Amino acid sequence: MNSITNIFREKKLKLTPQRIAVYRYLQSTKEHPSAETIYKALQTDYPTMSLATVYKALKTLTEVNLVIELNVGEGNFRYDSNVYPHPHIQCISCGKVDDVENVSFSDLNSKISEFTDYEVLTNKVYFYGVCKDCKDKAITLED
Ligand SMILES: [Zn+2]
Ligand SMILES: [Zn+2]
Repeated sequence: MNSITNIFREKKLKLTPQRIAVYRYLQSTKEHPSAETIYKALQTDYPTMSLATVYKALKTLTEVNLVIELNVGEGNFRYDSNVYPHPHIQCISCGKVDDVENVSFSDLNSKISEFTDYEVLTNKVYFYGVCKDCKDKAITLED
């Protein structure tokens, strides 16, 4: 059986082709696309799907925690179907967003608890830097 079908059933989500397409696309990529990027990528297969529909599907998927919304400070959101807490890094030169793998900040919550009387539930850690491609390009330009 289709696993997306099962996941949606578990979350009691109606299986609309749009939601399935958006979720499947997010699962196929590690690029943390924006709604516009998802919309453009799905145009060929779903020519009648509007950008508003993509936004609506993303909103629903975020509400049931199948997708996380990333605010990397660009004014628009990026989306990720990897909902397991993980840090992100964005290139300040080309804007791409990558996962930082094999590192966990779950102990950060208890650490922060020592400095606040809040009950700390979660955290979002973003790093910024220059990706390898951009760094290589800069070196070539210097020659
Ligand atoms: Zn870059
Ligand atoms: Zn991610």
